[in-house]
Parts: sequence; structure tokens; C-alpha cells
Amino acid sequence: MSDAPYKRAIIILADGARPDVLNEEMAKGNLPNMADYFAAKGTNKSMLTCFPSTTGPAYLPYVTGCFPGTCNVPGIRWFDKPHYAKSGWGFKSFRSYCGPETMFLDSDMNPKIKTAWEVFPQSKSIFNGVTKGIKKGHDLTSGGRIWHYYYAHMTDRWSYIDRVASHTMTKMIASKDFDFAFVVFPSVDEYSHRSSVFHDRVRKAYQEIDSYIGKMREDLRRVGLEEETLVFVVADHGLSDTHSHFDVGPWLEQEKGLRTFYYTNIAKFKFDAASMVSGNGMVHLYFKGQEGWKGRKCFEEISHESLLLDELRIHPAVALVATQGANSAIHVQTEKGHGSFRYDLARDQILYEFDRDDPLGIFKGGEAVLSNGFSMRESLASFYDSYFPDVFCQLFLAIVSIASYWRYCAVGLRVPVATFVLEF
Ligand SMILES: [Zn+2]
Repeated sequence: MSDAPYKRAIIILADGARPDVLNEEMAKGNLPNMADYFAAKGTNKSMLTCFPSTTGPAYLPYVTGCFPGTCNVPGIRWFDKPHYAKSGWGFKSFRSYCGPETMFLDSDMNPKIKTAWEVFPQSKSIFNGVTKGIKKGHDLTSGGRIWHYYYAHMTDRWSYIDRVASHTMTKMIASKDFDFAFVVFPSVDEYSHRSSVFHDRVRKAYQEIDSYIGKMREDLRRVGLEEETLVFVVADHGLSDTHSHFDVGPWLEQEKGLRTFYYTNIAKFKFDAASMVSGNGMVHLYFKGQEGWKGRKCFEEISHESLLLDELRIHPAVALVATQGANSAIHVQTEKGHGSFRYDLARDQILYEFDRDDPLGIFKGGEAVLSNGFSMRESLASFYDSYFPDVFCQLFLAIVSIASYWRYCAVGLRVPVATFVLEF
């Protein structure tokens, strides 16, 4: 490790990269630049992504230090019940950050949350859609971003975007005019969705990113900045092969008889539910209650009315159903059963209970820790290797402490996705 103080940082975001594939490729000698860089200057660890672990919202922690919900961006799509109750159908009542509405992402963000662009005077962005507060001329792909993505989408040439990202970074480094840079390489994510996360084309995308990292290091060395530049190679989320696809919106409408608002079927003015999907990983569901669209429909009310939550929890595409109870407990349901927890913020104590088997698969039952509770930090440290490693932290922050930002979402579903992110 060099003793040189760092004066600048570059975050390379390999969208959707998995630590296992990356380490496998590295062991095979297919990622020589990263292997060499880590051996000379760094370290290689896996870490957790955030909730929801989907492209876009999961970029936010890197540029704001906050979870997506705290930034007021709870998912790729959202529905705002209080706003809809007051003003009805309109662009402030719901959002999809796929397509043209992406332009509202910056203005939808909580204005109190500062981005890296507002902290570092010479910060530069390359292909990042989150640009709140960025100075004029500092979003180096601003003009062409949408067109580049459109071209890649239509021709399936996502490696083209990675190449443009690398080329733009080379020019930025040559200018020496940056203190922080965030550079997105989207091809691993995009190619994974088209085939398998283990496909040769996906592995080639890791190798191409590796070659761009080699080029970046060479560029930094040439202008004498290598020693003073701290480099991170990270991902926004992992990815798993999609084995079961579940379109919750059409299912609610056709199977459950609930008229449902969902993209792209949004030309509706009378509906009983809204299904706002975030990629393949998560969906927020919102239900009209006794007071119409005002207020939250809680776990008890939904469970009393129908078996909907039980049907969802045993569906093969669903890993977790999370809802808020009438008394602000958070309910979690999986195919293993039902549980609920409360977090006492003042005492930093999580009290968790379940019916028979732990739905989260963490506890065997009757363990002392259950009656005494455990702290948020203990939950993160102890459950790191479980299937839901950060469930207490993410659900507490998402549902309770920032409830206004979820705007009364009733159900958050998380389908099985890899939740590991890389940090080097
Ligand atoms: Zn992504």
C-alpha cells in the first residue's frame, strides 16, 4: 500500500458484476489488470448492496452516502398515495425512471441530501443518471447519454457504451481536471439479462472492463496522478439468472379481480391497487383502503380481507413479502412462514418474533437472543452470511424511519436476487 496521500478518487461501477464470476475470471488469469492493481495497491472484498438492489436506485449510496429511500427514490418506479389522493392522476403522483421520466430523477431527490457533485468542486460524471447539483460541463456524457443508451439498446452493442466510457475517462485524466469521478460501465448487467450471468459474452464484458482499468492506470501514470488517485471498482448489485417471472400487476388484475395501475398500462383513472416494479428484483404494491387512497393499508387490514399476502409469500418467484403493521411493527413473510419485528431506536434494540419457523431462516427458535433482542449493528454482523443479511436495517430504514418517502406503500416484495456488491 502506498503512503501517498490521496487527492482524488475514481469510482468505476461495473453494473451488475458478481464477486464469484469476477474472482473466477481473475483466478483464470483473464483479468490481469485488476489482479495486478489489487496486488500492488489494494484489496478485494464482497459487500452488500442496498434496498432495492436495482440499477439506478442502487447507484445512490455511492454518490450520496444514503440509501435510496432516504434520497426519496424508493425504487425504479413509485406511486405517491397522498399526492394521488389530493391531486389525482398526474406526473407527480407516480414515476418510472425507465425512459423519458428519468429526467425527473434529480428533482425528485430529497433536496436536503447532498450529492458528490455538490461536495467535490471538480467532480465529473460519465454515464451516471444521478446528476443532482452537478456543475455545467461536469457531466461528461450529458448530451449523448440517452442517445448512446438508445443505440446500444436497439443494436444490443452494450460494449460500445463501455468503450465510450473508457474513451471519455482517458480524455478526463489527460486534462487532470478532476477530484472525483464516477464512471458507469453497463455491459455486464445488460448482457447478463440477455443470456445468463455465467455466459461467455458476459465474461467477455468483465474482461473488456479489465482492459479499460489497465488503460486508466496507464493514463494516470502518464500524467503523474497514479499515486494520488484512489480507485474503487464496485457494482450496484449482483445478478442471478431469472428462473420465474412474475408480473404482479396483471396477476392482481386478472387473478385477483383488482383493477390495477401498472406501467405501461397507466391510462387508468379508477383502480384499487398500484404495482410499481423495480427491475426483476422488487415491486412496491399500494392498495386503496377504507379511506380511499389516503393513508396506509396495514398488514392486519390486508390479511383480514383476503389471503393475498399468503398467496404472494408462497409464490415461487417471491423471496420476501414485507408490510407495515397497524402498530408500526414490520411484518416479514416468506414460504417458511410469518414473523414481525419492532425496533426501539432509543435503546437500539430489535425485538423479533415469529410463529413457528423463522421466515428469514436465521434463528432456530427459542434462542436467548430473541427474548433479549439485538442491536442493529449486531444484526448486520451476525446475519451477514444469511439469505437476508441486512433485512432489519433495510426494512426499518425503508418502512419506518422514512415512511413519508415510501408514500404509504403497503407491500414490498423482493424476488431472489444476488445481493452482493463488490468493493476493492
Ligand atoms: Zn445495475
